[in-house]
Amino acid sequence: KVKLEGGSMIATLSKSDHSKLSRKVQIEKRLLEALNHRDLHVMFLPQQDVKTGAITSVEALVRWEDSVLGTVSPEELIPIAEETGLINEIGQFMLEKSCEQAAIWAQKGMPIKVSFNSSIREFRDKNMVKTIRKVLEKYKCSPELIQIEFTEKFALEAEAEKAIVQQIQKLQQDGIVFVLDDFGTGYASLRYLQMLPIGKLKIDKSFINSVTKQEKLEKLVQGLVQFGQSLDLQVVAEGVESAEQFALLKRVGCDAVQGYYISPPISAEEVEKML
Ligand code: C2E
Ligand code: MG
Ligand code: MG
Ligand code: MG
Repeated sequence: KVKLEGGSMIATLSKSDHSKLSRKVQIEKRLLEALNHRDLHVMFLPQQDVKTGAITSVEALVRWEDSVLGTVSPEELIPIAEETGLINEIGQFMLEKSCEQAAIWAQKGMPIKVSFNSSIREFRDKNMVKTIRKVLEKYKCSPELIQIEFTEKFALEAEAEKAIVQQIQKLQQDGIVFVLDDFGTGYASLRYLQMLPIGKLKIDKSFINSVTKQEKLEKLVQGLVQFGQSLDLQVVAEGVESAEQFALLKRVGCDAVQGYYISPPISAEEVEKML
């Protein structure tokens, strides 16, 4: 047991609390180094158009293989990065990598869009529009090739922050598509769809998981697809793992799918082979 004593306050940490804490501290420290040495890398999750079968876009996902800590998953990494502010650095890295790769594919004549995940803090930075435009220019990447995903949690906070909304509007006018990720799992406010220029909805994989096993879920997913489309949004299902799920999503008119049934996250070279 570790004891922290501060004045009259005494807190005890169990052994497992302590090891969690020290892993967190280690992750922070190593992450800073990884960012400095550009040790992070990116994998791409293909997204398939349901009607045509074409791979029309990929989602860039951060990957970190640390020599000391081993593989650190985004689920572990992102919350710590958000807490420490290092999420801005990860965001910058993903922005650069996404624009660079989208431009390379465009030059090779491959019409494929790249989307990446973003967090609220990144748009609190008043220079976000400038930063993104500069990176697009650096790689000669057309804004139409880039999509930015965020979750409902992000959008809800944005509601309170006008400056964030304005930056997103400007970037949308440039041609960047904004994607509402993990749709259906957030805080049940639909006002963000009114506030923000969203172009695409991603139905969370927790709905897709058992969609072929529960009639209620099937109806729910069908409803979400119709809801999105009635607002002129492109609707994507994530976490599609089986032929049955794919067939069901096709039947209810979902626009695009991603998931292990199509492909796991792969390298840029593997994406090219898939096209
Ligand atoms: P997400 O944006 O919803 O990304 C999809 C996640 O589902 C990815 O996990 C992907 O590998 C996984 N996945 C793909 N197909 C399937 C499937 O068929 N079944 C299941 N069960 N999972 C599937 P990953 O890469 O571990 O990322 C987890 C989350 O971490 C992402 O969820 C995203 O919210 C966040 N994330 C990842 N990279 C970044 C990043 O660069 N920046 C930020 N801010 N967040 C990131
Ligand atoms: Mg995403
Ligand atoms: Mg998602
Ligand atoms: Mg998710």
